Amino acid sequence: MSKTWDVIIIGGGPAGATAAATLRQSGRSVLVLEKSKFPRFHIGESLLPYNRAIFDELGVWPKIQAAGFMVKRGAQFWMGNGLLHTRLDFSRGSFTEFPESLQVERAKFDDILLRHAESLGAEVQEEALVTEHRIEKDRVTVKFRAKDGTDHEVQAAFLMDASGLGNFTANRENLRDYYPGHKKIAIFGHYSGVQMPAGEEEGDILIIRRENSWFWMIPLENNKTSVGLVLDQADFKALKQDPQQVFDDAVLSTRAVQERMINAQVITQGHVLTDFSYTNRKLVSPRLVRVGDASGFIDPIFSSGVMLAMSSAQQGAHVVHAAIAAGKSLTFAMKRYEWTTRRHVSRFWMFIEKFYTKHFAQLFFHPNNRFRMVCAINCTLAGRTRPSFATWWRLRLFFALVWIQKRYPLAKPIKIR
Ligand SMILES: Cc1cc2nc3c(=O)[nH]c(=O)nc-3n(C[C@H](O)[C@H](O)[C@H](O)COP(=O)(O)OP(=O)(O)OC[C@H]3O[C@@H](n4cnc5c(N)ncnc54)[C@H](O)[C@@H]3O)c2cc1C
Repeated sequence: MSKTWDVIIIGGGPAGATAAATLRQSGRSVLVLEKSKFPRFHIGESLLPYNRAIFDELGVWPKIQAAGFMVKRGAQFWMGNGLLHTRLDFSRGSFTEFPESLQVERAKFDDILLRHAESLGAEVQEEALVTEHRIEKDRVTVKFRAKDGTDHEVQAAFLMDASGLGNFTANRENLRDYYPGHKKIAIFGHYSGVQMPAGEEEGDILIIRRENSWFWMIPLENNKTSVGLVLDQADFKALKQDPQQVFDDAVLSTRAVQERMINAQVITQGHVLTDFSYTNRKLVSPRLVRVGDASGFIDPIFSSGVMLAMSSAQQGAHVVHAAIAAGKSLTFAMKRYEWTTRRHVSRFWMFIEKFYTKHFAQLFFHPNNRFRMVCAINCTLAGRTRPSFATWWRLRLFFALVWIQKRYPLAKPIKIR
């Protein structure tokens, strides 16, 4: 490949495909290097309503709609004992602009996004493992190994790292920091015959809170349900059991899950992921922008991953396009991209951090829509990362009440088990 590209992108997941499509919309030449052959399995199946705005901007919505994914209208949060639950219905969010979202098999969904980027003119090389990158004053050079084992070198004006948790460039620069207290492990699988909500609530994601861990249950097409357990790595190690045993025991001791899994049949199980909550100290440097999970990942509890990955990739592509147009390697807009990306993540982080505390749960599971506070929470958890003033002050009020609840209980105590 002797051609020099405007942009090389490492990774063809939702972030890489979004960046590629956005750059093509601006007329840039793009090469995507993806180590797997799509469609490939990936966890992360529950999308957020605000994803829709990005689908529309990319022009991919008709293709996604035609794929027939399960419609998600709400998110249900349950106590492990099955006695208490609360539901966010996105159509009743009052500030929430998009009433519904989707539950997707990622293999199919990611493939649609990558093929869409290709249809806009991005060159996609699959089974191409990036092994090295070098940033020079006037270009970037990337080395990759093709399927047949041969090594290749390609060059571009800019590099976008969308390598997901592989975190390719930041790992090479040792930029990764973990969130203290958030070293988690996820154990998950796909099952058929799980009893999930029906009628109006069909398609809802269920999040089931245990003492210091939680389950997700995500309904997919064809009677398939994704079920996963997230717990502290330290707790997992203390159990000294293999992951599937830990998962099975947790199902049996969590009534809200166990009752739904009575007739469940295994499709695949025993998948494990660790060390997924982290941040990188730098998201941009000359000729390099990190997007999606390669910029950092928080925690899957509120299903924010794909939405944040696609929105950072879209913003990242805009600033890269502008930098190339201006003939610069590092711009103010790139720095601003870094701040904005961190701010968007922080909208979810304030919920995630508190979700693991009892005083937050006491208020969250006894929702009081006074001043339309629950509507503001609904809107944020639907994926609106730029809050209006109306939602901003309501969220402040909610978190002030969480602070008070810790010191002077306002809401009733809750029982998890
Ligand atoms: C347990 C768990 C549950 C989750 N659940 C949800 C959920 O319900 N909803 C949600 O929205 N999000 C969820 N997420 C997060 C979501 O999966 C990610 O945020 C999302 O996949 C990020 O997209 P991405 O494109 O940045 O990365 P990825 O989707 O991981 O794509 C990165 C791509 O880069 C490729 N790559 C990596 N290294 C190289 C290399 N050296 N050379 C070439 N290619 C390379 C990989 O093969 C991969 O295809 C979850 C995450 C975890 C850990």
